[in-house]
Amino acid sequence: MTFDRLSSVFLSNTNHEEDQPVHLKVKDMGLQKRSEHDIYAGPSTRYCPAGVYEWVEKDGQETFVINAQNCVHCKTCDIKDPNQNINWVPPQGGEGPVYPNM
Ligand code: SF4
Repeated sequence: MTFDRLSSVFLSNTNHEEDQPVHLKVKDMGLQKRSEHDIYAGPSTRYCPAGVYEWVEKDGQETFVINAQNCVHCKTCDIKDPNQNINWVPPQGGEGPVYPNM
């Protein structure tokens, strides 16, 4: 039995305030495009268990999209980004997945 990623995120009861401070920061967006996308073919779209990162074509350009509200705070991106260009910080006030209910 398998589940798609977003169904698993739904089961985690992840909840964040809409206007919370950003907890996923990309230090250099230019580097993200030049290296993470162009050289490494966007591994963030595969290693993130919650499908937070996407490369989306917009106006003929690949744009890095971060769906931070889906984050389950595993910190994988902070460790696995090939350039250490993504910085994860804890969300405000204990928000995120409700692990005891899983
Ligand atoms: S910490 Fe990073 S890898 Fe883990 S769910 Fe959040 S965005 Fe994805």
